Amino acid sequence: MPRWTGGSEDTVKIDPRKCVACGNCVAVCPMGAIRIDRGVNRARIDADECVECYTCYRGMSMEHLNPTLVRAVRATLRVFRLRFDPEPDICPTSAIVPDELQWPRTVRRAFSDVTATHESTGVHGRGTEEVKTNDVTGRVGPGDVGFTVELGRPGVGVRFTDVQKVAQALAGTPARFEDRNPITTLMTDRERGLLNPDVLGEKVMSCIIEVATTAAAASEVLEVLRDVARRIDTVMAIGVALRCDDRGADEIERILAGTDYDVIWAKTNVGLGRANPARVPRSTQEAHA
Ligand code: SF4
Ligand code: SF4
Repeated sequence: MPRWTGGSEDTVKIDPRKCVACGNCVAVCPMGAIRIDRGVNRARIDADECVECYTCYRGMSMEHLNPTLVRAVRATLRVFRLRFDPEPDICPTSAIVPDELQWPRTVRRAFSDVTATHESTGVHGRGTEEVKTNDVTGRVGPGDVGFTVELGRPGVGVRFTDVQKVAQALAGTPARFEDRNPITTLMTDRERGLLNPDVLGEKVMSCIIEVATTAAAASEVLEVLRDVARRIDTVMAIGVALRCDDRGADEIERILAGTDYDVIWAKTNVGLGRANPARVPRSTQEAHA
């Protein structure tokens, strides 16, 4: 059952004393978590679906019209089949207010508000630089195959129960979880891919699991991901990252040849970063097979 909030609960709030039920915020919410409760003529937030992205709070201009006056004008105009509607990007009475979130609800905002920074990694958004910074971070070394497993999207989101299912599946492969990733830091048992039980009831807009393994084990990881994707209630996008060799070639086609995955998009990082000799490819040192 949705837990609709209109005032005093631990989420971004809509102040029922100020809300005039204009409905502008309903279309702004990327998760469809706001509705107009016609019973009380106020906007309400479904606290279970709200991922604390703060789009409603940050994305709307706030005016400070008197709520009592606005309600009276709207009611009077309705009698004459006329309407007073504020511009669509405006909350006319500044009824949307942020709140101090408590753990574990704080993880919703950390993963969903693009302006929030993850404490564990110091990175905004989903909290990871991914392989885009490989030149300086050396996440994926020569001979490594790195995977980014993106779960959720605006409008869909992802629950940590599903994130854990994917992590558990990956834990059964030779792949290792990336240290500098906020999902990894939420794990209490990496060997089994278990997350901190506190967060399992939480939902976020999207998040990314990162793993790396050897080229020999890459197709196994892809098959495991295909299987677990059928058991989760969200969308999954898989990124595969390899280093080119000295001739600019890579093994991606050979790796995918034994699977029924197709390459549908590709990007080459031309190496504008400063190489970090301190980072040594780990999969060439650690035995994962
Ligand atoms: S935009 Fe503001 S006044 Fe209008 S429904 Fe949303 S919270 Fe209420
Ligand atoms: S914080 Fe985000 S998900 Fe929650 S009600 Fe506002 S826009 Fe919707």
